[in-house]
Parts: sequence; C-alpha cells; structure tokens
Amino acid sequence: MVVNPKTFMIPEIDKEKCTGCGICEDACPGKCISINSDDVAVIEPFYCENCGICCEVCPEEAAQLPWHSWQQHAKA
Ligand code: SF4
Ligand code: SF4
Repeated sequence: MVVNPKTFMIPEIDKEKCTGCGICEDACPGKCISINSDDVAVIEPFYCENCGICCEVCPEEAAQLPWHSWQQHAKA
C-alpha cells in the first residue's frame, strides 16, 4: 500500500480488473493517473488528493480506496 504524505492513502488499482480504459485518467482532478504500456492505470501518489472519484467512475471496480481511508474521511 502506498501512503500519500499529504492525505491518507491512495486508491489501489487491481491490475487484473483494469482494462486501461482511461475513464479515471480523464476524471482525476489531480491529473495524477496515467495508463501504462500494459494498459493498467498507474497513480502518482504525491499528487493524489484522495478524493475517490477514480473509484466511483471505474466501470470495472478496479480502483478501490482502502476501507479505513473512507472511515478517516467520515471522521474529518
Ligand atoms: S483519488 Fe482522486 S486524485 Fe487520487 S487518483 Fe483517484 S481521482 Fe485522482
Ligand atoms: S477507470 Fe478503471 S478500468 Fe478504466 S483505466 Fe481506470 S482503473 Fe482501469
């Protein structure tokens, strides 16, 4: 798991589920997602805002925030 020092934890991309469609890349407000040569989304952790939008827009449910990250958001 990668920790973003500015926020909490960045989403994890399930490489088996990700199709490289780029929907999350277009939707990411931090512009920190790119699609690699294997057609898998890659997140640049330092610029991730931990907003969860990539998780919401992913049609394959390949992008997931760890559950305790959402818990921390709820307490904020
Ligand atoms: S959580 Fe938000 S800022 Fe971080 S990669 Fe996903 S869409 Fe981009
Ligand atoms: S929206 Fe989902 S399937 Fe598409 S590139 Fe992003 S993580 Fe992969």
